[in-house]
Amino acid sequence: KLHNEVQELRGNIRVFARVRPALPREASAGLATLRFPDPREAAQIELLAAGESATGTATMRNHGFRFDRVFRPEATQADVFDEVSHLTQSVLDGYNTCIFAYGQTGSGKTHSLEGGSNLSLSVGADPSNDAEAGLIPRAVQMLWNTAESLQDKGWRYDFEGQMLEIYNEGINDLLGKDNIDSGKHEIKHEKGRTFVSDTVVAPLDSPARVFALLAKAKSRRQVAATLMNERSSRSHSVFILRVRGSNATTMESCDATLSLVDLAGSERLSNSGSGTDPTRLKEAQCINKSLSSLADVIAALGAAKSGGHVPYRNSTLTWLLKNSLGGNSKTLMLLALSPMAEHLSESLCSLRFASKVN
Ligand code: ADP
Ligand code: MG
Repeated sequence: KLHNEVQELRGNIRVFARVRPALPREASAGLATLRFPDPREAAQIELLAAGESATGTATMRNHGFRFDRVFRPEATQADVFDEVSHLTQSVLDGYNTCIFAYGQTGSGKTHSLEGGSNLSLSVGADPSNDAEAGLIPRAVQMLWNTAESLQDKGWRYDFEGQMLEIYNEGINDLLGKDNIDSGKHEIKHEKGRTFVSDTVVAPLDSPARVFALLAKAKSRRQVAATLMNERSSRSHSVFILRVRGSNATTMESCDATLSLVDLAGSERLSNSGSGTDPTRLKEAQCINKSLSSLADVIAALGAAKSGGHVPYRNSTLTWLLKNSLGGNSKTLMLLALSPMAEHLSESLCSLRFASKVN
């Protein structure tokens, strides 16, 4: 009962933190001191970092954070999906749902959303049974299975998908044939639905179609990456799955979207003055703007359940996802964290960002 009351107060926003394991290539580097004080509840994480006392002497400070769920490095992809599946399933009940992966480059965002680097998303592959498969293939497979099982009760579902990229506040269609960075697409909101002009909305009749689509978008981003190194760390990629259902027996219907967002690396939020390269500086400013706008929107939604002003228009990201943030929609922030000592100050920034949202 108490649990429900707390959830009502906070609205439909959850924050999960996930610490990735050290990678083989990091074997000789030092681990940060991360602690998980209550393993049974699995909601707390502590980080030990050097600080300064009031008198200016160096001390070690313990920074404690509490989220809805904390995953330790040994958590599997299946463990994470277990905690997320009810959220993704609620799309079939008509709830707009958004999952954001937030964290510095290399912290495990893409791994958590798409899957391990060995996972094949190629045409014809079915990655959903692979232990390495991330949230997207698992959620897609489960949605199809559930939709199929609801046929007995008279439900018919239609799925369609979009794959967009937000780079320097402009939108690129990763499924379109235009050159990347044409930036010509406009966002329109009508009757609670969002449209992006001149973009491909692909009808999806099977999970295999979704995986083919993801593979296509991925190769598109990789082509771009050879022109501008590591593009994925400087743009947000947004997969939007729209689910429309109707029931001929009960005359019920539903229409909702599941949006899965792999956010740009958050490291530029703290060192946005990085270098003097004007291209990099512009990218940093855009990432800064969209990540802080996202935090502002989520905070405004949490603070004023109704009536208060929510600054959706402050960034392309929040404006695109307006209909999936707020109202009766559900939001999950998945905070990706590196376990390494060299990333400690970025991890602390990420934890602080997420606790503003929680
Ligand atoms: P990001 O998308 O945040 O830049 P990645 O998802 O690409 O980071 O992860 C960086 C590296 O760490 C990749 O090689 C990835 O396979 C690996 N990795 C991330 N999370 C895990 C995990 N939970 N288990 C094993 N390897 C992981
Ligand atoms: Mg990535």
